[in-house]
Amino acid sequence: MGVDTKWRFCKRCRSMFHMGEKGVCLGTPRGHTRRFLLIYSPKLVLFFDVNPYDAHSQGDWRRCTRCNVLFFNGNDAQNNNSCAAGGKHNPDLSRNYILKHNHPILEEWEEKNWRYCFKCHSLFNRGKNNIGYRAYCPGTPDKHHIYRGSGMYYIEKPRPYQKCFFVTSHNSYEEQHHLSIPEQLDVGVRGIEIDINDDDFDRLNYFQVGHYDAGRGCYWGHGNPNHPNDKFQDWLKVISDWSINKNGVHAPITIFIELKSYTHSEKKVTELENAIRTIPPNILFKSSEINKKLNVTGSKPWPSLQELWGRIIVVLTNFWGRFAGHGLPAPGYSNYEGFQSRWRYHLRNDCNSAFVAWTDEDNERIERNYGSDDKRAEIIQRESRFYICNNDKNLATRYFNEEPERLIRSDFGYTNPDGYLINFPISDAWSTALTSRMYKWTI
Ligand SMILES: [Zn+2]
Ligand SMILES: [Zn+2]
Ligand SMILES: [Zn+2]
Repeated sequence: MGVDTKWRFCKRCRSMFHMGEKGVCLGTPRGHTRRFLLIYSPKLVLFFDVNPYDAHSQGDWRRCTRCNVLFFNGNDAQNNNSCAAGGKHNPDLSRNYILKHNHPILEEWEEKNWRYCFKCHSLFNRGKNNIGYRAYCPGTPDKHHIYRGSGMYYIEKPRPYQKCFFVTSHNSYEEQHHLSIPEQLDVGVRGIEIDINDDDFDRLNYFQVGHYDAGRGCYWGHGNPNHPNDKFQDWLKVISDWSINKNGVHAPITIFIELKSYTHSEKKVTELENAIRTIPPNILFKSSEINKKLNVTGSKPWPSLQELWGRIIVVLTNFWGRFAGHGLPAPGYSNYEGFQSRWRYHLRNDCNSAFVAWTDEDNERIERNYGSDDKRAEIIQRESRFYICNNDKNLATRYFNEEPERLIRSDFGYTNPDGYLINFPISDAWSTALTSRMYKWTI
């Protein structure tokens, strides 16, 4: 599947045209334009070569190389349409665009009022007050489009990353999924979680993948590294290689790296950064590419999904103790070491690849253990773009009443069916109604 962001609404003839060519516009002899009175129409996003279709997807929409508008070329339409350039539209060289058709849900990033004209077969916007059908049809004597009985089409504008759901697997490297990471990516998973350990760091100088212990639970081969290769960056390479094989034609992949061991020492922090940087720089979307300084009520938006197309985003997470979710420190360690690992990375100016997540435990625990003068957790909270609400979906609502400015990962089994508060609903049920709303985005 591909995504084409070059479509615009023509402010003269109300059709959809492709940027780069003027084409033939019945509204002005100068050709289609997205500008009127210095106001530009927004980007419109069309998908092409979607596979599989669903009941609300309609294919065979094409760009006419003569008039440069979008028109329907399915059924017997080829023989009966009318082109503003005279004669028939020419679909040669066009991609096969797929439109969302008669869908019960209008998403907030979609434009409504798009209709199909039975005479010229183009898509046009009839406007809020329903006068847009007039004057610009090449197929009727009075130039009015005929659209009674047309389906309703919702056309996307760029969709912000933080408003998307991404199908996410828990402990993605484990054999319980019976799918390797590349196989999961093939079926649409776009949130990956990897646990890393420092068990043998002093000897190996790299982190190892595994649950609690290096190598534990790993699903070897099938596209994952082969037994016993638990080297962290080799597992990352599996993901970036998948992206390269797709030529970057995929929704962004977000990788949650859970630090199962303490990453205090400068050497370990450096190695962590170096490992992440083995993802090619044109694929890795670094935290330094976006303003990290966002406060909770700030409005600095994320890039759109289209802008992040083909990219990989890495997020550092962990809990307070070594044993994730249990909050227990390892023997001999104080009980804020998990936080400290993220904090160390956050402090380092030369560590700008990964995003550091804030977790709902941070403030509470810092205060309990070190008093309210300790501002470390507040700083992370203010500056983080990811928020981990482990095991409590209500926390998401408490901190972010409506649209989260930050992305949230919920822990296993916890999803919010109502909206966008949890962008990474971690699940093994990859075909639920929740995930079907974003299915097309994930391929
Ligand atoms: Zn036009
Ligand atoms: Zn045409
Ligand atoms: Zn028409």
